[in-house]
Amino acid sequence: MMAFIKLLARNRLAAFGALVLLLLLVLALVTPLLPLLDPDITAPANRLQPPFSAGHPLGTDQLGRDILSRLLWGMRVSLAVGIAASLVAALVGSLIGILAGYFGGRTDNTLMRGIDMLMAFPYILLALAIVAVLGPGLMNALYAIAIVNIPFFARNIRGVTVGIAHREFIDAARLSGKGDTRILASEILPNVLPVIVITLSTTVGWMILETAGLSFLGLGAQPPQADLGSMLGEGRRMMINAPHVATLPGIVIFILVMSINLLGDGIRDALDPRLKSGALSRPAPMTRIRRRQRQSSTTGSTATRSTALLSVDDLRTDFEVGDDTYHAVNGVSFSIQPNECLGLVGESGSGKSVTALSLLGLVASPPGVISGGNVQLNTHRHPQRDLLSLKPRAIRRIRGNDVAYVFQDPLSTLHPLIKVGDQLVETIRIHQPLSRQAAHELAIKLLGQVRIPNPEQRAHQYPHELSGGMRQRVGIAMALANDPELIIADEPTTALDVTVQAQILRLIQRLREDKGTAVLFITHDFGVVSQVCDRVAVMYAGCIVEIGTTREILDNPRHPYTRRLIDCVPRLGEPDNEPAAIPGLPPAANALPSGCAFAERCDLAEERCRRGSIDLIVTDSDRQVRCIKPLGLEAPLSAGVEHD
Ligand code: ADP
Ligand code: MG
Repeated sequence: MMAFIKLLARNRLAAFGALVLLLLLVLALVTPLLPLLDPDITAPANRLQPPFSAGHPLGTDQLGRDILSRLLWGMRVSLAVGIAASLVAALVGSLIGILAGYFGGRTDNTLMRGIDMLMAFPYILLALAIVAVLGPGLMNALYAIAIVNIPFFARNIRGVTVGIAHREFIDAARLSGKGDTRILASEILPNVLPVIVITLSTTVGWMILETAGLSFLGLGAQPPQADLGSMLGEGRRMMINAPHVATLPGIVIFILVMSINLLGDGIRDALDPRLKSGALSRPAPMTRIRRRQRQSSTTGSTATRSTALLSVDDLRTDFEVGDDTYHAVNGVSFSIQPNECLGLVGESGSGKSVTALSLLGLVASPPGVISGGNVQLNTHRHPQRDLLSLKPRAIRRIRGNDVAYVFQDPLSTLHPLIKVGDQLVETIRIHQPLSRQAAHELAIKLLGQVRIPNPEQRAHQYPHELSGGMRQRVGIAMALANDPELIIADEPTTALDVTVQAQILRLIQRLREDKGTAVLFITHDFGVVSQVCDRVAVMYAGCIVEIGTTREILDNPRHPYTRRLIDCVPRLGEPDNEPAAIPGLPPAANALPSGCAFAERCDLAEERCRRGSIDLIVTDSDRQVRCIKPLGLEAPLSAGVEHD
């Protein structure tokens, strides 16, 4: 609830609307207590006084009644009728919608055909007809407005309910033995309630206008009682010689409905779950960067930097959600040489994807912030670029061009409504000055390169017409489109079965051989690592805990975590060798322990593992491990521990 109010307050227009509405509501509530003249007392001698005349701050109307008093009393009536009508319509309409949507079949048919009948009449004519039958009067106007608005709620809510009624969690509730009433109350209602509130907040203003409309025509409030609509209707005849009589109620209606609509829009935005974490702002074109000091790394890496294709130094990425900061990437350093394949392995949630996304500023901001580090790219097209200090325009020339990305789930990254060939053409033409025709030919060549049969035909198909493996190959073809020097592949084979996985891995190997492409290969599968990677970095809780050549790490892991990870891999043909799960869970990213993040789960941990910060130490040539007693090394190395 607090979060909702905070979100609403951040939306300035909605906050303004809420403020104005609150003011009007308070005014309406205290009207009987204010020292006002009786709104219905006529005084023909004082008729049509202009505003600011003595005793009548807003003047008088054609019967000498005080306009200020009538406005305030009238606003009370308009608000009460508008809100009451909305509540009635929301209650009845939502009930019909939920029942129709949930039960479906004959219930749905009966209820919705009734609603269709209501909708078959022109809306305002129906309201007029209802009042004509019931007789003019405020209460009857209220019924009329409520009835004509029921279909609006019923249709909206039915649509939402139908979408929910067949979801798995409803089936699960049914399997747990809940009856229809309990499912409706505890599963369906909480899910449609935001929609009801949103619909309500956006219709109240409209209903107030309709009430005013009926009163304007003389069918609502009856003299001497005033509401804003009837005041407008009476004043209309004096528009020329006493314009204030009609203008003032008009202005009040305008302000009232405007404030309700601004607030309603704000409520809609704040209740939309998709907007909750990202707040009400558009994601920035690149991740926000807030490095405290621009540390230019001098220690040791200067020598490798000239030759490395990509060098990452002490990269830190946080997510700021509310008052919490989640440290997803905590000082990651590695480098990739041209034509090298570096594997990045680790459990789910260890920060692999966020590391990869941070390199090109692709982490969504808000809530993501790159809070430290350097990323140096050194390609032929863009030599020696400090990626984290580039402008969005400059980084767009590198994304998908020098450095390409293959995502895990190809279905959600391909546009569902554009043919795959056209999506490739688009990728090509963003970075290369080719004609449509030439780009199309290149697209077909690329599809052939990634071994898609009948590329000409496939180019004219939509993503849903391809199998998972083919879609992933389209994703790879898209990554290849502009001859990148580095491909970042984020679990590209996780969604695929083993045969397709083998094909994709072979494809990546061939690319490296033919074109000299370097690859950052993210996976949680050591089997895949051993097939494609030259070197491996093992990540845990946002840190690299061990890095070295694949052979050495697989044969001879130095970090207890790496060893446990390797032990988790089942081995074919060795039935006695049961994979050993790692007990416990990784630490929460917003509450990382001091010392080694793995200490809690490590059977070799001792007291000093939990103190200070543990640094990466070099064990053999080109091998580093973040542990104070690396496995397989007799003399414990304690140089890396800093006590603070
Ligand atoms: P993986 O290693 O499985 O790819 P990720 O890099 O996706 O893991 O996530 C690393 C950490 O960052 C996780 O703890 C995750 O909860 C957190 N995280 C990722 N995206 C967000 C986000 N938008 N808001 C808050 N935390 C996030
Ligand atoms: Mg991931």
